[in-house]
Amino acid sequence: MVDIERPKASDMFNKQTELFAKKGTFEEAYPDIEDFQIEVEEAGLHYQPINERFDPEQPPGEYFNCHNSRCYGGGVSIGKILQKMGRERLETFETTESCKGYEGSPKGRRKYQNCETCFKIKVTLKYKLYFSALSHPY
Ligand SMILES: [Zn+2]
Repeated sequence: MVDIERPKASDMFNKQTELFAKKGTFEEAYPDIEDFQIEVEEAGLHYQPINERFDPEQPPGEYFNCHNSRCYGGGVSIGKILQKMGRERLETFETTESCKGYEGSPKGRRKYQNCETCFKIKVTLKYKLYFSALSHPY
């Protein structure tokens, strides 16, 4: 069988208009974050999961894509976690999110089962002092 593309969360997201798409870079989207470290540990079946670290030198996108090659629309929203942290003024946060995608036929016409991938995400943020005195911009 030919390997036909299965779009991931970020591909699907690119077709939508949401915060990140409108705002462009990480810095523009999160102007009150001075420094950050994000660790994503992927755990899944049938494939080699990927662990990745992000920081200001290498910022994440809105979504971290699922690396399960059978998964359709898979990934986890990093942007959602950062927005939640920003609203609650959290400096550290750990969560385990399951993949939003599903294993299906190419182009997603048929759904076989939910993707079993999980993402363990650990975030440490440092807010800019100026912003920490104000209410959150989102
Ligand atoms: Zn997945």
